Amino acid sequence: MSSSATGATLRLPVGLFHERARHGTARLRLLAGTDELRVQEAAAAGEPRASLVTALLAACTTAIGDLADIDESLVQALCIGDREALLLHLHRLTFGEAIEAVVSCPGCAELLDLDLRVADLLVPPAMPGEPEAVVAVGAAGASWRARLRRVTGADQLAVLYRSDAAAQLLRQCILSLERDDGTAWPLESIPQELAAALDGTLAELDPQAEIRLALACPACRQNFTANFDAAGHLIAEIAAEAGLLLGEVGAIARAFRWRETDILALPRPRRRAYAALAAQR
Ligand SMILES: [Zn+2]
Repeated sequence: MSSSATGATLRLPVGLFHERARHGTARLRLLAGTDELRVQEAAAAGEPRASLVTALLAACTTAIGDLADIDESLVQALCIGDREALLLHLHRLTFGEAIEAVVSCPGCAELLDLDLRVADLLVPPAMPGEPEAVVAVGAAGASWRARLRRVTGADQLAVLYRSDAAAQLLRQCILSLERDDGTAWPLESIPQELAAALDGTLAELDPQAEIRLALACPACRQNFTANFDAAGHLIAEIAAEAGLLLGEVGAIARAFRWRETDILALPRPRRRAYAALAAQR
C-alpha cells in the first residue's frame, strides 16, 4: 500500500472483473465525519452489515483500477476477499496498523486479548486470476464438473433474509454443474458432500474472504482457530467514537464558528487537529 496525506492505493487480492477487463488496484480516501456519522447511525439502527459495508466502501473508494466513478453496484461486484482487504486498509488509514481484539476460548471460555497487525491479516495478492474457475470433484459416488465464480457483496445482500442463506450463496456461484456422463445437474439437489467440496473450492478461490487466526489459550493450553471479523471490528471502532465525533464538531463550531456540514466534510485527521486547536483557545 502506498499512502499519502489524503488516502492510499492498494492491490486487491483478486480484483474487479468489469467489462472484460480486470482492475487489480483500488484507491481509498480518508474517512470524513459524514462517513463516521453514517456508520454510527446505521449501526445504532441495526442496518444489515452487508449494506452498511457497501455504503462505506462506495463512499471511501475513489478508484478501482481505471474506473473512477465508484458506485454501490461496483463495490457490490467485488468478491468478499477484496471487500475485506479494503476494510483492513481502511482500518489502517483510520486507526493505524494495530488492531486490538478479544476472543473467547472454546475450551474454557477464557477471554484472550489479541494484538493483531493489519499486515499480518492481509493475504498477498493472487496471480491475476480468472473471473471463473472450472473444477473436477469426486463426491457422493460420482465425478462432477463445476464452473464457479467467487461470492460477491451482491450475493451476500441477496441471501440476507433467507433461512437457507449458505446453500443459496453456493447455488448463486455455480454457473454450471455436470455429472461425469455430461448430464446437467439441478442446483436444487446438490449432494451434501459435493456442496461441502464446492464451498471449499470457493474458499480457495478467495483466500482473503475468511481471516483465520491460529490461537493457543494460555489458561487451558488448547489450540484453536477463530475467524477475525474485519467489517464488524471496523464498524464497532467507528461506532465507539460517536460521542467523540460530536464533541469535536461542537468544539470546532464554538471556537471557529464553522457550519456543521463543513466540519463533517473534513478528513478525520484534520478535524482532530482542529479540535485540538479549539481545545487550546
Ligand atoms: Zn482455554
